[in-house]
Amino acid sequence: MGVCIIIYALLSLSVLLYLVKKLLPFINKTAFLSLPIILGGSLWSIVIFGSLFINLSIIDQNVLVLANERGQSFFRLIDITRLWNANHGGLYAPISLKNQPTPYLEVPDRDVITNNGAQLTKINPAYMTRQISELAMQHNGVQFHITSLKPIRPENKPDDWERQNLIAFEQGTEERIELIKDPNGSIYRYMAPLFVKQACMKCHSKQGYKVGDIRGGISINIPATSLLASKTLQKKNFIFFHILLLIAGLSAMLIVYKLLAKKEHALQLSNVKAQLAYIDVLTNVYNRRGFNKRLLEEWHRAQRDLHPISLLMIDIDFFKLYNDTYGHQQGDKALKKVAKIISSSFHRPGDIVARYGGEEFCAILTTNLEGAKIIAKQLLRQVRDEHIIHEKSPIADHLTISIGVSCMLPDNNNSIKELIQHADKALYLAKGSGRNQLVSWSDDRLN
Ligand code: GH3
Ligand code: MG
Ligand code: MG
Repeated sequence: MGVCIIIYALLSLSVLLYLVKKLLPFINKTAFLSLPIILGGSLWSIVIFGSLFINLSIIDQNVLVLANERGQSFFRLIDITRLWNANHGGLYAPISLKNQPTPYLEVPDRDVITNNGAQLTKINPAYMTRQISELAMQHNGVQFHITSLKPIRPENKPDDWERQNLIAFEQGTEERIELIKDPNGSIYRYMAPLFVKQACMKCHSKQGYKVGDIRGGISINIPATSLLASKTLQKKNFIFFHILLLIAGLSAMLIVYKLLAKKEHALQLSNVKAQLAYIDVLTNVYNRRGFNKRLLEEWHRAQRDLHPISLLMIDIDFFKLYNDTYGHQQGDKALKKVAKIISSSFHRPGDIVARYGGEEFCAILTTNLEGAKIIAKQLLRQVRDEHIIHEKSPIADHLTISIGVSCMLPDNNNSIKELIQHADKALYLAKGSGRNQLVSWSDDRLN
């Protein structure tokens, strides 16, 4: 069985490797799904391997049970025949070459001559068993051996295996079956005890036996060739079936995996597309569309939770001049830098940064006016500290921004439009007041 399992394991492994190799390019692309498939494949292999192991053991067990039943049948038949013989006190048969008087039968009337002169000799159960054994051996290779720990006939002495069993029978073991492997023809050896019956006492009482004692046993050698051949065939079928099951399971898993991965890939692609629709490609923050969508969501959330919402309108000062001085490409770089400074200042889940258009950004904060002003001041400082050279700027030697801040407590009497207008107006004021500063415009109720 060990060899079968090793062959099976090697075959399974090669199938698995082949399938994995076939799908490897695909698996690499979607590595996030490869762990479940490896785990699933291993689990499936373990299940199949376990099932095969159990089934092969069951086949072994079943064949042994079958051999045992055969042994029992032979034994019972011979035991009944012996009883029949003993009940008659032995039987007479003509003396012949094959039926010589047995010297081990010490009874006065062992040999008799009939009225018409025929010579007969008595055949007791032991002698009969021997003769049947010889016949059985000739006809179907089955061999009986009557044996005892106290044999009358020396040839009935037990061999080692039989002696062990006879001792075990004395201690209560009911029978024994074992496969004896032999390259010239394996055999199943069966053995069961012979109990002293009333009919046996006539001859065996002098040995000190009582009815019910174990007199000895009969060991039966049954050729194992046909049973072993059928066992091998059954095992082969099971191995074949399990390999099929393994391949089918793994293939199904890989197909499902492939379909899932394809679906996942398509989903990711559509997610990316959907996200791109809301993202500004140059600065990587929300675009105007994304801003509108997210602002609406945050507005409703703030309305629900009854907390204020602030909006920062951020515009780069004299940016046209910057472009004119350094070129459009340099302008793009500066825009990216400013976008990065702004977005790195907002970390809360409700905070949103967007490019409102051109060189104008906005940020939504779920905070009150004071909080928004603190952030706005930080932004002004950070842009200054970045020191992006703008030598033509009338107000500094570097790039600066102006910020308009508005804040509202959303309810049914105000609107997003007003929030934007207020921030816009505040920004306008900041521009008019010399730029590089913030101006705030708040809901009167918040002051
Ligand atoms: P102000 O201080 O009043 O805001 O002056 P400004 O020059 O910044 O404002 P204005 O509205 O006159 O000009 C905005 C400039 O922003 C115009 C354009 O050259 C520049 N701009 C808008 N979008 C982009 C862009 O995507 N890339 C670059 N490099 N420049 C842009
Ligand atoms: Mg500007
Ligand atoms: Mg502008």
